[in-house]
Amino acid sequence: MKVLVAVKRVVDYNVKVRVKADKTGVELANVKMALNPFCEIAVEEAVRLKEKGIASEIVVVTVGPTTAQEQLRTALALGADRAILVEAASAEPLAIAKILKAIADQEQPGLIILGKQAIDDDNNQTGQMLAALGGYGQGTFASVVKVDGGKAQVTREVDGGLQTVELALPAVVTTDLRLNEPRYASLPNIMKAKKKPLDVKSPADFGVDVTSRLKTLKVEPPAERKAGIKVKTVEELVEKLKNEAKVI
Ligand code: AMP
Repeated sequence: MKVLVAVKRVVDYNVKVRVKADKTGVELANVKMALNPFCEIAVEEAVRLKEKGIASEIVVVTVGPTTAQEQLRTALALGADRAILVEAASAEPLAIAKILKAIADQEQPGLIILGKQAIDDDNNQTGQMLAALGGYGQGTFASVVKVDGGKAQVTREVDGGLQTVELALPAVVTTDLRLNEPRYASLPNIMKAKKKPLDVKSPADFGVDVTSRLKTLKVEPPAERKAGIKVKTVEELVEKLKNEAKVI
């Protein structure tokens, strides 16, 4: 069974993002970029399926700028076999889902694994749109994935508990944080990844128009928190809560 994994290049989660002065977006110049953490979990899950002998090949795909090759190489170093870069400066979830659907039609994977969300735009849309476009079953927010006999059993993290669903393959799975703990790429694997195949395509190759359908009006940072103060006694604390914060 072939596994298709979709990954996104995002600002590294350790970076404190800064909003651009003109409020049109966040500062990306000279900022450390990385594989979206949920996508790393998606790659790890595919690699584990391959190690169990369930997956035969892992194809990793990204839609992004030329520089997104770095993240594809990371995925190859983690264990993916082949990569596809669909070059586009930017694309919204629907266009990405359409491109992934076209790639799935060509590649015929048994399973398509995505992150539950990309930590830059927090859309949480692409996997669901892909499942709808392809008519695939979907197991979103997965914390356990078991594949057996043409079916996938997915345990989902839902409000207040866990839900287990069974999906006929091919199916879409989106990863939640607790699905696995991704490994680090070893130096020999980073070297080997440089020689693995990486195809470069364009959205037009898949007949997809990536023209934006929405306009970002403005981006604002969260309100700054006021600095705290230290109090010496419980009485002083109560007095301040009563008379300054007016919460009691
Ligand atoms: P989102 O719907 O944008 O929150 O992203 C959810 C998941 O869809 C990500 O974790 C990726 O697996 C996939 N995805 C989003 N954007 C891209 C992209 N540009 N290229 C490939 N996969 C993507």
